Amino acid sequence: MNILVINCGSSSLKFAVFNFHDSSQPLWSGLIERIGSQTPLRIAWTSGAQREHFEIAHCRHRQAMEWLVDRFDKLGITATLGGVGHRFVHGGENFRQSVLVTPAVLATLEQGLGLAPLHNPANFEGIELAQKVFPHLPQAVVFDTAFHATLPEHAYRYALPEKYYDEHQIRRYGFHGTSHSFIARRSRQILQEYRLKAQALVSLHLGNGCSSCAILDGRSVDTSMGFTPLEGLVMGTRAGDIDPGVCIYLAEKLQMTAQEISELLNKQSGLLGVSGVSNDLRTLLEKEKEGHAPSALAIGMFAYKAAQSVGKMMVALPPLDALVFTGGIGENSPAMRARIVGHLQCFGLALDPDANHTHGTRAGGFIQSAASPAKILVVSTQEEWLIAQETVELISARNLGS
Ligand code: ADP
Repeated sequence: MNILVINCGSSSLKFAVFNFHDSSQPLWSGLIERIGSQTPLRIAWTSGAQREHFEIAHCRHRQAMEWLVDRFDKLGITATLGGVGHRFVHGGENFRQSVLVTPAVLATLEQGLGLAPLHNPANFEGIELAQKVFPHLPQAVVFDTAFHATLPEHAYRYALPEKYYDEHQIRRYGFHGTSHSFIARRSRQILQEYRLKAQALVSLHLGNGCSSCAILDGRSVDTSMGFTPLEGLVMGTRAGDIDPGVCIYLAEKLQMTAQEISELLNKQSGLLGVSGVSNDLRTLLEKEKEGHAPSALAIGMFAYKAAQSVGKMMVALPPLDALVFTGGIGENSPAMRARIVGHLQCFGLALDPDANHTHGTRAGGFIQSAASPAKILVVSTQEEWLIAQETVELISARNLGS
């Protein structure tokens, strides 16, 4: 059975088709960009090692989905599909695990669109469109927040009067759940293959968005992102942790509106804001070499805050078994991993420079030094594969039940 995974964003549509019995690599995958803009849509299509690019006239999500179905039909892919899995950013308190789509699920999802106004409406539209174009296929929804449903109350509550939680559901939800959940499963497998303990893990997802997660016996017990994906580490364009008093000051003294403060904290801060140059770590590492001080500061802040966050997660765990790096930066940047682990000497953590340089590829993913009390791993995250896996599990459970 092949599973189609759809990640429908406000201006993009990512897709991947997996065959479960073969491998965790997608058979076909791609990205449709610039949806809803006045410029032609750009489509990247990958099939194994082969890459193709297309451009079609500007249009909205519906036409983009129709283009996809048309190509699937032409290539004979549609007939191979047994289900569709959707990424959904914010499930709120109603969804603590992945679910199959039913009219009741759709109605509850629709009520929660405001929880993540930048993401949930587009995710929802993707489900509605997929139901129209694949009416006979079971569809599943996998939530970025669900993996964190196991957080204890002292970790998920903010120290605000109770009514803000009771009446407005203001609490830590956490995000990147599909990535942390994949890392939890995969790291456990790797550690157990070597007969190593895998009880207490910290997953560090470092991409454009960044978050940490404390994982105890495979379950999330704390995470750095909060009510929104803005809290926690320094990110590509997001500020991460900041004294809320700064927002009050910006509103009172600079008369900035909520919208302007949101723009500042979400889109103009982080690596981009501090460096004044770019949100892309590769560019900043180059600029740092040229002596550009703001880029060096941005890199330094990123590493320091990421390491601090590892320390915070360790408070939620028994002695650490493994720290796991993932995401575009976590998987690809030995320089950033070295800086982060450099701040973690207080816990005895240390890298093997050669293994770090080669991303652990010659050592089963391990990059720690012999003296390090906990293992340090590099694991490639596969969020789409996890969505496909959960979709298969839900469909199989439904079939067994019927
Ligand atoms: P997203 O969160 O958008 O999925 P990614 O996980 O792709 O982002 O991560 C993007 C980040 O990864 C960028 O900052 C990019 O510079 C960084 N990155 C990718 N490859 C490398 C590399 N070889 N060295 C350093 N940074 C890298």
